[in-house]
Amino acid sequence: SSAIPKPAEPRVLTVSNQKGGVGKTTTTVNVAAALAQFGLRVLVIDIDPQGNASTALGIPHHAEVPSVYDVVVDDQELASVLQECPDIPGLWCAPATIDLAGAELELVSLVARESRLKRAIDHYQQQPGDAGIFDFILIDCPPSLGLLTVNAFVAAREVFIPIQCEYYALEGLSQLLKNIELIRAHLNPELHVSTILLTMYDARTRLSAQVADEVRTHFSEQVLKATIPRSVRISEAPSHGQTVLTYDPSSSGALSYAEAAKELGARSTTIAR
Ligand code: ADP
Ligand code: MG
Repeated sequence: SSAIPKPAEPRVLTVSNQKGGVGKTTTTVNVAAALAQFGLRVLVIDIDPQGNASTALGIPHHAEVPSVYDVVVDDQELASVLQECPDIPGLWCAPATIDLAGAELELVSLVARESRLKRAIDHYQQQPGDAGIFDFILIDCPPSLGLLTVNAFVAAREVFIPIQCEYYALEGLSQLLKNIELIRAHLNPELHVSTILLTMYDARTRLSAQVADEVRTHFSEQVLKATIPRSVRISEAPSHGQTVLTYDPSSSGALSYAEAAKELGARSTTIAR
């Protein structure tokens, strides 16, 4: 596979959508895997207490594992919790452990509670550990808008929204956009929706095509050309601790995520805020 050029500036994206089950985690790990396979250094930060991204990357995340919890609550360095993905060199993960569920409450009384993740990332990128400076950092968010998600919005410059080509796909989207506006106004003026990816596309249904058309009409600049099909291979991969890129590299799911990653890499400098 050919290479994606390193971005001029490292890019931090938060993968968000206030609906659950729309493909946030799947998109995070597969886009990250593809970017790494194209030669970039990539970090997935798992801030969902469920730890689905950690699982999908084959990263242990039982209660004793150093995790994002230690970083945002206990001021540990990001470098101290990083693990490299076993079958994709250059792809790293800051895992989530179940104690992150308690972090929402614990953060409330801490100083700089909204910017703890940002501080840890900035510090790491200035004094990188063994993994080196990351070209891309993708943050996998829980569906709720709690302090963990706010930390992701403050740490990122870009919001990456996966949209499921199904009923009610756009439900909750206007609320997400309002929340992004609030974060821009009060905490992070740089934040903007840079990327939208249509996922779980079913070419046999008219509904998928209708949803895709509607999203492309409203967000013509942000929507990637690549569309992710609904695919059993994609949904099977996590139970093997793998992304679809290594689980079944020639599947339509793997190829479409590789296309999406290429587009994301190529658009580095072209999307205006
Ligand atoms: P979220 O992180 O938004 O809650 P997930 O990425 O966990 O969503 O996806 C929800 C479910 O849908 C998971 O079981 C996942 O394996 C499945 N899934 C995601 N994308 C696809 C796809 N393109 N084709 C088939 N199943 C998918
Ligand atoms: Mg998820």
